[in-house]
Amino acid sequence: PARSTVQYPVQSNCERLTDSRENERVRYSVVIPVYNEQEVLDTTYDRVKAVMDTLGEPYELVFVNDGSKDGSREILERLSAASQSVKVLNFSRNFGHQVAISAGMDYASGDAVIVIDADLQDPPELILKMVEAWRQGNDVVYAKRTVRQGETLFKRWTAALFYRFLRLLTDVDIPVDTGDFRLIDRKVCDVMKGLKEKSRFVRGLVSWVGFRQTAVEYVRDRRFAGETKYPLKRMLRLSTDAITSFSEKPLKMAMYVGAMLSLTSIVALVCALCEPLFTGRGVSGLFALGAVVVFVNSILLIAVGILGQYVARIHDEARGRPLYILDSQPGLEEESRHGGV
Ligand code: UDP
Ligand code: MG
Repeated sequence: PARSTVQYPVQSNCERLTDSRENERVRYSVVIPVYNEQEVLDTTYDRVKAVMDTLGEPYELVFVNDGSKDGSREILERLSAASQSVKVLNFSRNFGHQVAISAGMDYASGDAVIVIDADLQDPPELILKMVEAWRQGNDVVYAKRTVRQGETLFKRWTAALFYRFLRLLTDVDIPVDTGDFRLIDRKVCDVMKGLKEKSRFVRGLVSWVGFRQTAVEYVRDRRFAGETKYPLKRMLRLSTDAITSFSEKPLKMAMYVGAMLSLTSIVALVCALCEPLFTGRGVSGLFALGAVVVFVNSILLIAVGILGQYVARIHDEARGRPLYILDSQPGLEEESRHGGV
């Protein structure tokens, strides 16, 4: 006959303590930035919760209320009162999507941190795929959209153009058609917490820190309800932040243009002065004068370009990014992951 035995493991107090803490330790943190999303929050919570429950490990939902002016705050506080896994950060005012994500990362305690929009444009079900890729050893799993539904042609085009333009300008490998919907490992999150620059373009920073990155593809749904919180003005600000944080090429542009104009004007001037030798006519004064004017201006442009180089260096220092980031250090003691901070 089968005997069922109950085992009472003999444990020291200390072991039991760490054990219970181990059980409580959050494995997954889901960071959800929220700005005036009262129509969707309950559904978002239900869908994200359903997905996270299937993973069968402790998780937390970190809602960052980015100064919502509608009923979002009350809904979040109700959710948080009803469930231990819901944590809410209420901002004192609207600080912007990128700041909200950063705050969520600061407070998230899981081994894997997932960032997802509140409006259900990012399907929570994709988190399962991301977690799978994470378990296979990837440190960053970003969601790449193949199709965008329910967004205006204007938004799709400007977004597509923007990602390609940014790629052209920067040396950082920022994937195209990828929003902030992604999973990052604890070690990546720790590095992100150390990056204190103010004008943040989070997805660029995540690319910049390196580690093993991979993509999962998905179809971006239409908004579940409400309307976009990214009007043209904010889109422009985000793209300016992205370009100025990840490229110095605009600063060098003046120099290139100046150098080119300078060369052309010198050639033009020489041509103008030599013209009489071949044609027997007098020097074309207007042409020569034009060449001189262009030459003087090109010197100014070069000067601006040189200034730009110094500004770029100041900018680099001011951002205060670490000089390098270690993934691991075999043979050395585990002390600090960041180098040169
Ligand atoms: N969001 C935010 N602060 C803002 C603007 C937006 O926290 O100032 C949140 C918003 O609630 C949503 C996410 O960021 O969860 C993405 O915003 P939205 O859906 O409006 O952008 P879109 O998908 O249209 O690019
Ligand atoms: Mg959206």
